Amino acid sequence: MLRKTFIRKPRTLVLAFALVLSSCSGSAPEANKTVDVVLIGGGIMSGTLGTFIKELGPTTSIEIYERLAEVGEESSQVLNNAGTGHSAFCELNYTPEAADGTIDTHKAVDINEMFEISKQFWAYQVTQGFIKDPKTFINNVPHMSLVWGDKNVSYLKKRYEALQKHTLFQGMEYSEDREKLKSWIPIMMEGRDPNQKVAATHMDMGTDVNFGSLTKQLFANLTTKEGVKLNLKHEVQDLKKNDDGTWTVVVKDLNSGDKTAVKTKFVFVGAGGGALKLLQKSGIPEANGFGGFPVGGLWLVTYNKALVAQHQAKVYGLASVGSPPMSVPHLDTRVIGDKKALLYGPFATFSTKFLKHGSWWDLPGSLDMHNLMPMIYTGLHNLPLVQYLIGQLMLNEDERLAALKEYFPNAKLEDWKLEVAGQRVQIVKKDEKEGGILQFGTELVTSGDGTIAALLGASPGASSAAPIILKVLEKSFAKELQNPEWQAKMKAIIPSYGTTLDNNVEVQNQVREASHKALQLKYFAVDGQGNATIK
Ligand SMILES: Cc1cc2nc3c(=O)[nH]c(=O)nc-3n(C[C@H](O)[C@H](O)[C@H](O)COP(=O)(O)OP(=O)(O)OC[C@H]3O[C@@H](n4cnc5c(N)ncnc54)[C@H](O)[C@@H]3O)c2cc1C
Repeated sequence: MLRKTFIRKPRTLVLAFALVLSSCSGSAPEANKTVDVVLIGGGIMSGTLGTFIKELGPTTSIEIYERLAEVGEESSQVLNNAGTGHSAFCELNYTPEAADGTIDTHKAVDINEMFEISKQFWAYQVTQGFIKDPKTFINNVPHMSLVWGDKNVSYLKKRYEALQKHTLFQGMEYSEDREKLKSWIPIMMEGRDPNQKVAATHMDMGTDVNFGSLTKQLFANLTTKEGVKLNLKHEVQDLKKNDDGTWTVVVKDLNSGDKTAVKTKFVFVGAGGGALKLLQKSGIPEANGFGGFPVGGLWLVTYNKALVAQHQAKVYGLASVGSPPMSVPHLDTRVIGDKKALLYGPFATFSTKFLKHGSWWDLPGSLDMHNLMPMIYTGLHNLPLVQYLIGQLMLNEDERLAALKEYFPNAKLEDWKLEVAGQRVQIVKKDEKEGGILQFGTELVTSGDGTIAALLGASPGASSAAPIILKVLEKSFAKELQNPEWQAKMKAIIPSYGTTLDNNVEVQNQVREASHKALQLKYFAVDGQGNATIK
């Protein structure tokens, strides 16, 4: 019967066959629209790039595609990340101890300089009236590091002394005095072993950032501009380079199932965990050899008002030996709209998804002939990471509570609930010597001609959105950036553009005064002699 129906309808058969063929051949549908820029993904990175481009070149047309029903709902969403405004005040992994016992401060200074750029970019959004109230996305929460045990206390003291040589870190306090520590972090000191040697640093000008709220507000402003269109529930499925150097981007409307194509001069793959797949589809040689290893996270979160009222800091500790940098435990104050919460974690999880709202096929589907060997070598060279992940996956409720109690000794399970954080896709990269290496930072991959740029990785993440996007502009809009109008506008957005702040007292004070005032944040004014005054 079935056979008969098919034979009676040969035209249906031919049509079905043609459809299957066209979906397998990979040929892109004819583009029915042409724009200057396509942004893939509605996270903080695309929001930042779109905002920069529209300010610098107001006539640029931009088409944005986001597969979810809202922007800022993947890694940039408030509880999918820790909201730390990474400035290396408290993150001990940015200041490693060298074999000779000295502290390497290079990375810490770089990270701090990057965050100063992001704050200037956000301050511009506020002074222009694009974002009305900075408190909706950034708030002062002191940044602290807390360690215990002789070896760790000695490390923290050396770290503090090394950082005091940099004006960006002046204003930081160091203490081993338990009474002082109790005044900074009462709930972390009550119930602690009185014989435990402890030390902490405290930086009053640390921040908590709601990157989700910021992302939504960047897009809300961006989409009021002429020539900008945001397409929600639209998934980019393919990218093809055209002979004339432009790109055809194939998009599926997830409501209707329809596929369309758009032609553009420049594509930004700001798809977070989805970036690797699209980069591979682009076929650019620069993408070869990259792979991704997903690590998810869990937080313990409490909204208990009495507890929240007693803790006002982001307190980072030391990662346990053999564990990766993103596993550093911390107990954080979070500001979420008019609510506050405490968050402890992260506990690592494993799934093959590259996005929280992704597919189980993400990891297996990302393997190709260029990254298979690097992935295998990376696995073999990172057995401690594998062991760490297995250990984390086996943790039960009581073991998680025990981990929390190292930071908050009197914690009670009933006050806390588990929340799933975002997915991080750690970069795996081909390496001549090792075969493959795991990288914990962020990598900007750009084609030789600059017509496509993609961001892989997640650290230091959203905090460095503005400096990362400056790199995209310098590579892909190099000619336009020479234009005096672009230059002047750039200086208006980032007054420190082209200079660094560290040990550059006058500029540091000027820049911090302007950006912190606009963002309604405290800052330290320095005098170049090692003295710092809170403003
Ligand atoms: C557990 C955890 C803790 C973190 N803590 C911090 C922190 O304390 N401080 C900090 O600065 N950073 C932190 N980060 C990193 C930070 O969250 C990310 O670096 C940042 O949010 C990445 O922004 P993005 O725009 O690149 O990606 P996302 O915010 O993930 O946005 C990408 C968007 O692209 C969309 N997309 C994907 N594929 C497609 C497609 N094919 N078509 C259309 N749309 C697509 C997704 O739906 C998503 O909305 C943390 C991350 C995690 C996971």
